[in-house]
Amino acid sequence: MRVTVLGFQSPYPGPNGATPGYLVETESARLLLDCGSGVLSVLNRFMPLYELDALLLSHYHHDHIADVGVLQYGLMVHQIFGDRDPNQPLPVYAPALPNTEANRLPYKQATAFFPVEEQTKLTIGDVAIDFLRTDHGNGDPCYAMRLASKGKVLVYGADSGPGTNWEGFANDADLFICEGTYLERTKPKTANGHLSVRQAAELAEGLGCRSLLITHLFHTYRQEEVEKEASAYMRGTCHVASIGLQLTL
Ligand SMILES: [Zn+2]
Ligand SMILES: [Zn+2]
Repeated sequence: MRVTVLGFQSPYPGPNGATPGYLVETESARLLLDCGSGVLSVLNRFMPLYELDALLLSHYHHDHIADVGVLQYGLMVHQIFGDRDPNQPLPVYAPALPNTEANRLPYKQATAFFPVEEQTKLTIGDVAIDFLRTDHGNGDPCYAMRLASKGKVLVYGADSGPGTNWEGFANDADLFICEGTYLERTKPKTANGHLSVRQAAELAEGLGCRSLLITHLFHTYRQEEVEKEASAYMRGTCHVASIGLQLTL
């Protein structure tokens, strides 16, 4: 299983940047996890978008879905060009709520919507996928994803505050992609559905994850500062997200 970081910034992309999106490739599946602002531009460095097998969306905040509309439009044009079968819409797996957002996911012949909830279990090619609702504020669901393939486990933590119960979901992760929205110096006094870099590292350490990829970062954070803060609280391998970073499990 290979993960490519297509976007990792939040709440908006910096120069030549992109907000969250991750390409996961196995022998028989090419999956896009979230589709933020600028993600399609980076995806095209690695593969044509019409060869994707599925899109999975954690939740409907703009930083995670900004490029979905242009993905739909692009797929439709590639169907007209003959690059993709018009009878094969791209499956989009995403929360059912809020309705106003979910209703926009079916698009002509280009995309088909399949609602997910915490009990949903998917198999796409050689990847088994489970979902966990995270502590992310406003009442609408946000789902983390656990992807297992050929004995390797990738957990994508989506957006999450400290109230998420990861026990039994992320413990055996070979790689935990976890948000570290704040540095200790930028962390607000009250919790707001996000983690700091330190909290992400402590979480991964406590769960015994083999490696951690810190993501969901403000674009002006210096990579060395994020790495220093994370590695002080985690003994396993700690990566800091950057555009185009590839990790193989
Ligand atoms: Zn969010
Ligand atoms: Zn976000």
